[in-house]
Amino acid sequence: MTAGRDRPAPPASLQDLPGLGPVRIEALSRLGVRCVLDLLWHLPRRYEDLQPWDGQRPGWAVVQGRTGQVRLIGRRLEAELSAAGRSVRLTFFHKPYLARKLAGSGTVAWWGQIRRLGQLWVMTEPEQIDPGQLEWGLRPIYAIGQGLSQVVMRRAIRAALASAPAAEAPWLRQVHCPLSLADAEAGRRHLAEREAGAIARAIRAAMPPVRGHPQPPPRTDPAPFALRPDQVRALAEIRSDLARPRAMRRLLLGEVGSGKTAVALLAARGPLQAGWNVVLLVPTEALAAQHLEAGRRLCGDLARPLAVAGEQRPVLPGRDPRLLVATTAAFRQEAALEPLGLVIVDEEQRFGVEQRQRLLAKDPSPHYLSLTATPIPRTLAQAISGHMGMSVLGNPYGQLPPVRLAGQAGRRQLYHQARQLVQAGGQVLVICPRRATEGRPGLPAAERLAMGIARQWPELPLHLITGHTPLAELSDRLSRLAGGEAGLVVGTSVLEVGLDLPAASLVVVEGADAFGLAQLHQMRGRVGRRGQAAEAVWVDSGLDAEASARLRRAAAATTGEEVARLDLELRGCGLLEGVLQHGFPALKALRLPEEMALLTRACSDLSAAGN
Ligand code: ADP
Ligand code: MG
Repeated sequence: MTAGRDRPAPPASLQDLPGLGPVRIEALSRLGVRCVLDLLWHLPRRYEDLQPWDGQRPGWAVVQGRTGQVRLIGRRLEAELSAAGRSVRLTFFHKPYLARKLAGSGTVAWWGQIRRLGQLWVMTEPEQIDPGQLEWGLRPIYAIGQGLSQVVMRRAIRAALASAPAAEAPWLRQVHCPLSLADAEAGRRHLAEREAGAIARAIRAAMPPVRGHPQPPPRTDPAPFALRPDQVRALAEIRSDLARPRAMRRLLLGEVGSGKTAVALLAARGPLQAGWNVVLLVPTEALAAQHLEAGRRLCGDLARPLAVAGEQRPVLPGRDPRLLVATTAAFRQEAALEPLGLVIVDEEQRFGVEQRQRLLAKDPSPHYLSLTATPIPRTLAQAISGHMGMSVLGNPYGQLPPVRLAGQAGRRQLYHQARQLVQAGGQVLVICPRRATEGRPGLPAAERLAMGIARQWPELPLHLITGHTPLAELSDRLSRLAGGEAGLVVGTSVLEVGLDLPAASLVVVEGADAFGLAQLHQMRGRVGRRGQAAEAVWVDSGLDAEASARLRRAAAATTGEEVARLDLELRGCGLLEGVLQHGFPALKALRLPEEMALLTRACSDLSAAGN
């Protein structure tokens, strides 16, 4: 559904265009080009500016002249060209067949990069242009696969322009045959606006407004602590959503520890008081235990009994707790959750989109609040485009701790630093991508690492925390750590989310390149929560150069929102595409996330028009 796809199809088909036979049409289809309109929306990736060489400056230019001496030296072919009053040496490799052609030709034109080598002007592997075909100025360069060439592509697209839909024709012409780069950019921008309009319609079609149950604010609020002004504002925004007849879809964005859970639980008081069930979904049992405690403090007067549900403890039919803190298992027990008024999801990136959809796919639908420091790209796009409300909390801890990247060579010293910190009464977290060594080779495993440390430093207080740690043992270890006991905690990504270890000042992420950016960000927020000097160290296993590059960029980000935007950029809109599923193609003209504002505007225009 590219912009304009809703217009009547232009008359021509691909085989009517010059130079396109079955083989090239097949090659085009591999590029996703299946009709003339697709071809017109196959926009140039860049432009080359064909200007005659002035005989003075190095750079990209066209050199025209007569060929002089031609020499074949091994695999290298050299030809002297006199052009613009100078002599230019052309060099080619592995092209002996050019020798005869060059020696015989009269005036020829060459396009390439001219460099200066001492007294000599040289061009390596220039492209020959037939002087009769030479057109000065910008020429588009397209993405082409096997079986196609720039020449074929240009000729076909130029011919196709004759049948471009009237509303887009001027912009398409400007992009494919621009007079200047500014001209080309202006054309692309217009096309991007049209594309944003098409995407806005697609998002709207995928997420129509949903009816909900309006819920009054609670009569009282407990006051275990005074809310900060940003928390007060976020709570007011949520309560105003809850009171409306359409179901709330809202994101509560805030750094780890900024008090999101507290705001969400206070928001839950309205529905609870009105007799609705509220589910708080958390990714791990350990976090469930922590949230249950917070739930008792903030909603204990309204909701009794509170309960945790998970793999081990199903929701009991007929004995519904009114505030249920649950892990993923709750998704399988929708019936037992009725009447469900509000779904709160902590760290939604840990849950599947379909899982969440199942709880919400009802008419009227429960209200939905997502708590996160690093929204998934889809949610961020929806929030920015106005399809989800967004409330933002400030970071009460000030700056996040700095990140240091370490390679394998730095690990020895790193563990000595960790040991010293613990011996001085501190807490250190070490997070590994795996629990045990099976699976992907080369990734550090928590159990093995813990064993090694215990062997080397038996006196060091060491805690191994993984998804296999029994809940009783887990709560015991956590409460000792929460009490401030010194220790080295080695574990898997169960440590990543929400665990409150306020004394921790160093978090080491082993095999950091194996984690997602949002996860890394969470882990970074685990330390320095009392304002103590803290540091995150990401150990790069160096298995994948692309992952290492991503780590370097993420390490430079300073807020969760920055990380989320980077994630959106790196993972591209493939995700958006995957979720919207039907007929949502790769972006052609629109650049995300840089041009998110165009999408936002298209969405609000659509709402204003009332469709
Ligand atoms: P998040 O969910 O954003 O990670 P939490 O809601 O778990 O943060 O809050 C972290 C800690 O700070 C909790 O112990 C919570 O009780 C406490 N807290 C939250 N808001 C305030 C506040 N305004 N004043 C004091 N403590 C607060
Ligand atoms: Mg939290």
